[in-house]
Amino acid sequence: MRRIKGVELLKQELLSYQTDVIISIGHELQRISRKVQLTELAFVPFPAELRDEVNAIYLDLNGEPSLETNLDEYAEIELLDYFSNRKINHWDLVYMLELLKAVGGKNGEMPSHCRRLTEFLSYHPEFDIQVCTCGNHERAEGFLVCDLDGNLLADALSPYYWCKRCGRIIEKDKHTVLGINLNPDQY
Ligand SMILES: [Zn+2]
Repeated sequence: MRRIKGVELLKQELLSYQTDVIISIGHELQRISRKVQLTELAFVPFPAELRDEVNAIYLDLNGEPSLETNLDEYAEIELLDYFSNRKINHWDLVYMLELLKAVGGKNGEMPSHCRRLTEFLSYHPEFDIQVCTCGNHERAEGFLVCDLDGNLLADALSPYYWCKRCGRIIEKDKHTVLGINLNPDQY
């Protein structure tokens, strides 16, 4: 039977898709570790009027996927802004991800890289445990101790925990997600 979904739930699902696809694109750019010219892609997954405007995609200094354009005032625009301004749509983003997966990296290795996020953990009252945004908790895959950038530590006194399922960095006492590091350095 088809499930009927309400407006709020559908909006939440779109927002969740948006966060996930931007993180996944960031992950590919982190693996590639360099600026990717759109001419390197098998096709440009943007509407025709943008194809002359955008030159390349890369991670900016904050770790956000960004576009290099030939617009004088906006030489650098976050990918998410293009999406929020409806210049590109959900399919354009997932095609961009698919195309980036075919691009070779600088050295094939992924550096440790922390992308900042702010999210609040949910709490499971029955088990008295915090649940990561991804659904993981200490009775599932669990967490490892890390530093503020998500790099793993042997020191069990750190207030930061790294989610073994999704790479989110959690400040336990504040029930807050501080970022995501998909390839942390090991101790
Ligand atoms: Zn998680």
